[in-house]
Amino acid sequence: MVPRQNPRVVIAGGGLAGLACAKKLAEAGLPVTVLESLPYLGGRASTFLDQDGEWVEQGLHLFLGAYAQFRALLRDIGRPPREVLYWTDDLKFESPSGPSALFGTNPVYAPLRTVLGGLGNNKYLGPLAKLSLLPLLAPAVLPEKLLRRFDRLTVVDWWRRASGSKQVLERVLRPFCRAIQFTDAEQFSAYNLLGWAHQTLIRPLRARLGGYRGARDPQIFAPLAAYLKQRGVEIRMQVEVDEIEYDANTGRIAGFRLVGGELLTADIYVVALPAWVFAPKIPQPLRNEPFFANIRDLPTAPAISVQLWFDRVVTRRDGYILVAGSNCAVYQDQSRRTYPYAQGSRISVIVSPADPLMDWDEAAIVAHVHADLGAANPQIAAAKVVKQVVLKHERHLIRPLPGAMTRRPMQTTPVENLFLAGDWTQQVFFGSQEGAVRGGNACARAVLRAVNRGL
Ligand SMILES: Cc1cc2nc3c(=O)[nH]c(=O)nc-3n(C[C@H](O)[C@H](O)[C@H](O)COP(=O)(O)OP(=O)(O)OC[C@H]3O[C@@H](n4cnc5c(N)ncnc54)[C@H](O)[C@@H]3O)c2cc1C
Repeated sequence: MVPRQNPRVVIAGGGLAGLACAKKLAEAGLPVTVLESLPYLGGRASTFLDQDGEWVEQGLHLFLGAYAQFRALLRDIGRPPREVLYWTDDLKFESPSGPSALFGTNPVYAPLRTVLGGLGNNKYLGPLAKLSLLPLLAPAVLPEKLLRRFDRLTVVDWWRRASGSKQVLERVLRPFCRAIQFTDAEQFSAYNLLGWAHQTLIRPLRARLGGYRGARDPQIFAPLAAYLKQRGVEIRMQVEVDEIEYDANTGRIAGFRLVGGELLTADIYVVALPAWVFAPKIPQPLRNEPFFANIRDLPTAPAISVQLWFDRVVTRRDGYILVAGSNCAVYQDQSRRTYPYAQGSRISVIVSPADPLMDWDEAAIVAHVHADLGAANPQIAAAKVVKQVVLKHERHLIRPLPGAMTRRPMQTTPVENLFLAGDWTQQVFFGSQEGAVRGGNACARAVLRAVNRGL
């Protein structure tokens, strides 16, 4: 699609959604400016150097094989997925003082582990419990329109109707809910869970989990910024959008007012900020319009990211480990392939649901994580923590409460020259890296359609 004119676009937010949107618009020949408040790009998926000169991440990031638009973006910028990621084809489940299990995820790349994992692991999941997993296969054939109907139910309510096996709920579904959207099964829309199952089941060969081969800044965001700059995109760092100015006479956005007072004007404005950052900036005359009032009402969930350096190796696995029966929902040892560290293991953990721990101090959170993971893995219990980073994200995703996922807004708004990008806008990968790239791509398509209509 080639735009008839060349209107200027300004994008607030240099996370994956804003950058994906900038890429598509620049490729179509539009002049684009990206504004980012932090000194680095990538937002919630970013990595940054700490005071010791070591890379740390906002949080552990699983890369699903089904992330097709993110993989395409990586290829376009000259960072093919095979250079950025390593793939694993199994998923380990542990539980404090309980059994553990290893399940293969891919019948082609890991046929033996997939078959043996399904037939074995009976201490973790009994044969009847495994059979009761069958309703999870149904979403493979359900179209998106029907899946959306499950947004009325929580995972717990849906599971009670579909099967009811308590063992599956506690040992498989609850750990998944906590690991993929950092929310418990009682607060988790069944549409969200079944949507993830759908996206994986329709691409069985892509049922793999990717780990990063290094910090995302040098792996992705620096090359993406270079790609954008080569195509004329202006990226302004450490520039914070303070207000969004609206002209009630024209019914259009008149500019982004930056902290410091500058008014930045353009023809088209894209908000690629998190919903909860955008909500208080919605111009007063628009606040009670149903479209914008809905955004202000979207529920949010916190998460806590804990990164621990140990004095010894505590696991030989490079893949992901889900922990059932603990709020230390998922962890990975990143010491070999992501952030090489010769002294021992370097573990990245997500604490979820994080709500009850948000007022705990750092030492208490680290002690809790060490004790819970230690109960599941005795080598962790025996090891000493030599360094720690705890990042509390007060609001990190739209909480997938029943109804919230279908209420997410589209990328076009009732204001002709205002568009939305972000993992919280409508797309089928919910709050995730792929969801952010899809939100950004869909936003760019909406902008180009509007430009071609003569905006
Ligand atoms: C702890 C954690 C773990 C996660 N784990 C996974 C995972 O395992 N797998 C997965 O796929 N996804 C995961 N995610 C989700 C994923 O990171 C997000 O869905 C995705 O990065 C969101 O991208 P975005 O561009 O929509 O938003 P953001 O990344 O939030 O981008 C918004 C940008 O706007 C900037 N900004 C904010 N305010 C202003 C302002 N006033 N002016 C200018 N700029 C501003 C921010 O600094 C940020 O760069 C995780 C997220 C977190 C926090």
